Amino acid sequence: MTLSYDPPSVLDASVNPSKESLKSSPLYLPGTECLLRSQAPLDRLTSYRVGGPAEWYVAPRRIEELQASFEWANFEELPITLLGAGSNLLVSDNGLPGLVICTRHLRQTHFDLETGLVSAGAGEPIARLAWQAAERGWQGLEWAVGIPGTVGGAVVMNAGAHTSCTADILANTQVFSPDGKIEILTPEKLKFAYRTSILQGGNRLVTQATFQLQPGADPAFVMAATSKHLEQRRTSQPYNLPSCGSVFRNPNPHKAAWLIEQTGLKGYQIGGAQVSQRHANFILNCGGAKASDIFQLIRYIQQQVEHRWSLSLEPEVKILGDFQPV
Ligand SMILES: Cc1cc2nc3c(=O)[nH]c(=O)nc-3n(C[C@H](O)[C@H](O)[C@H](O)COP(=O)(O)OP(=O)(O)OC[C@H]3O[C@@H](n4cnc5c(N)ncnc54)[C@H](O)[C@@H]3O)c2cc1C
Repeated sequence: MTLSYDPPSVLDASVNPSKESLKSSPLYLPGTECLLRSQAPLDRLTSYRVGGPAEWYVAPRRIEELQASFEWANFEELPITLLGAGSNLLVSDNGLPGLVICTRHLRQTHFDLETGLVSAGAGEPIARLAWQAAERGWQGLEWAVGIPGTVGGAVVMNAGAHTSCTADILANTQVFSPDGKIEILTPEKLKFAYRTSILQGGNRLVTQATFQLQPGADPAFVMAATSKHLEQRRTSQPYNLPSCGSVFRNPNPHKAAWLIEQTGLKGYQIGGAQVSQRHANFILNCGGAKASDIFQLIRYIQQQVEHRWSLSLEPEVKILGDFQPV
């Protein structure tokens, strides 16, 4: 299943709405059914539940709409931010300038019984895909069940858990470039490493990913393994309050959680943001936290760990927008 399109052009000024006209009356991108929203709240689109609005926001359903979104942003000379499920993002309280393109509606899934390949749109929740595979008795995605991100986000972040990761099972991914080019990239091209890929920080958008799984197992067995992974996470990680999962990358050979715990920071709080008591590499929004609280807590943890261990912790969470230096 490969998404394809015949690129429409929205660069004609007679049909291309200016951002000024869109501010007063919501409009669709020309030639599409894609609503362009101004000042769209992002707090409800991120797992931290914090952050100000996107200056502009679209959630395309088809490649044509994606193309139109990129063209409109280019025409208006707007910066672009790509958004999946927002489960690894800290967005500034002041929001984000330019156009936020969200993949949440790019969601088709296809299981090929002959080959064991499963293709999924970028916006498909990776945990949902893991359950769908388990129900069919397909092995390979059990580890992904507790990750609240999308397929696209998993590829970009090389998301992983329980000693497995996206790179282990990815067959290829379809990527859309701002100039309209569509490429199929293999794992070698993506330069996967621990929680990273070549796609991070760029404007190329993953539209679809294809994973190599192993069909033919007893569905009850795969379901049980998947449930066990979820259960393990629920007992070791805090899922009851908003977070982004692990805030810092593990500085090999150390575990960030252990370093933070040994620094005595469990439970430390700034505003509504608190270092989790259960898992010290999680910062929780305990209610009413601002993005700036979380940001200050991140910096405080970094300073304290650096002071105590002479080690610098690098955030795994993507910090977007402007923050006051601490
Ligand atoms: C409770 C909890 C537990 C977690 N546990 C884990 C875990 O066990 N393992 C793990 O690895 N992570 C974990 N995470 C972090 C997060 O879920 C993963 O990093 C996930 O892969 C992010 O996917 P997303 O769709 O939410 O991406 P987002 O957070 O929306 O975006 C992350 C980055 O990817 C980019 N991006 C997103 N989609 C695309 C796309 N289609 N094309 C191009 N760029 C894109 C964004 O611009 C951003 O730079 C956890 C998070 C939470 C809240």
